[in-house]
Amino acid sequence: KKKTVVITGASSGLGLSAAKSLAEQGWQVVMACRDFQKAEKAAKEAGMNPENYQVMHCDLASKQSVRNFVQTFRTMYQSLDALVCNAAVYFPNAHKEGVILPGLFPGGGPRWSAEGHEMSFAANYLGHFLLCKLMLEDLKKSSGTPRCVILGTVTATVNGAELGGMIPPLAHLGNFEGLEQGMKAPVTMLDGGAFDGAKAYKDSKVCDVMLMKELHKRFHKETGIVFTSLYPGCIAETGLFREHYPLFQNLFPAFHKTVTKAYVSQDEAGQRLAACVADDRYGTSGSYYSWEGEAGTGGGGGKDAVQNTEKDHDWFMNYGSFRTLSIDEIGGEAANDQRCSKLWELSEKLVA
Ligand code: NDP
Repeated sequence: KKKTVVITGASSGLGLSAAKSLAEQGWQVVMACRDFQKAEKAAKEAGMNPENYQVMHCDLASKQSVRNFVQTFRTMYQSLDALVCNAAVYFPNAHKEGVILPGLFPGGGPRWSAEGHEMSFAANYLGHFLLCKLMLEDLKKSSGTPRCVILGTVTATVNGAELGGMIPPLAHLGNFEGLEQGMKAPVTMLDGGAFDGAKAYKDSKVCDVMLMKELHKRFHKETGIVFTSLYPGCIAETGLFREHYPLFQNLFPAFHKTVTKAYVSQDEAGQRLAACVADDRYGTSGSYYSWEGEAGTGGGGGKDAVQNTEKDHDWFMNYGSFRTLSIDEIGGEAANDQRCSKLWELSEKLVA
């Protein structure tokens, strides 16, 4: 019997590339996407065999849409073997509310989800929180060892060691003052501070890693579900950067190829994500897997990373720097367990 994986945001970038890779490995891929037509077109253009995938509508910025998605899924599939929380938006130019300098800050102020939450928080994190909660039931029915994989990022500063995590604005969740107030206008940021689109993205990704930790703590023992998170390297050319300045879009890939050495192609990043879904070596619940650089470039990372590579990763091509953080090694904003629990409880109130 084919294994089934749900991938959110599989209409472009990393999600599409992982969908293709898993479909080729014999998985049934459910592409949970907000734009049905775009996803269908993307799958066709990627050369995916229609027998191995299905596009289903899911807009993570709407609670109702997430609930509808799960219901539709259940009419067609008895169980789920893997859930990949990949979709994300990034509004790097959307600075403080009200500051609109044409051409310089084309992103304007914050955008809002169906329920009126700031969009990066809603789509990147809260929609996934609800989806994970609902789909635990489907994962539990898997006949194998089900997995739930949540995309993190280096800029969420969970490693502390990488350059990408040191570039301002830094993620900062404060004591969830904004979330306590419901994350609705005029509140835009989790810490209750002034709106900053780049920071909102990083904050949302910290929440994603905290969600993985909390899911592990609450459900791994009881259900056997493996919860992991990853940073796939910097895929500088995906749609994620579509709202950045053109100059940035041109220079960003070169910067990461030469300076940070974190650059990775979309295909290779897709294989890394697919490995987190399907490969036994990425099956330790609570882990954060962090890659940098392309195979064979030897890029990124310090001495530790290289030692790590040799120790536990020489089997998987020749990545310059790969490291696994166990649940207790996850640092920075995502480190504190009590805060992970607090985030969970406050999030439950928002999706109730
Ligand atoms: P893309 O912009 O190419 O892909 C993002 C996907 O999310 C798109 O399919 C998009 O749909 C979808 N999406 C956005 N909003 C919603 C929504 N409300 N409901 C459903 N789907 C939605 O970006 P990437 O492939 O680069 O990013 C994928 C993941 O990888 C993200 O979680 C990102 O944080 C992470 N990541 C990316 C890095 C990079 O360097 N690119 C580095 C580290 C992590 P649509 O096609 O309709 O716009």
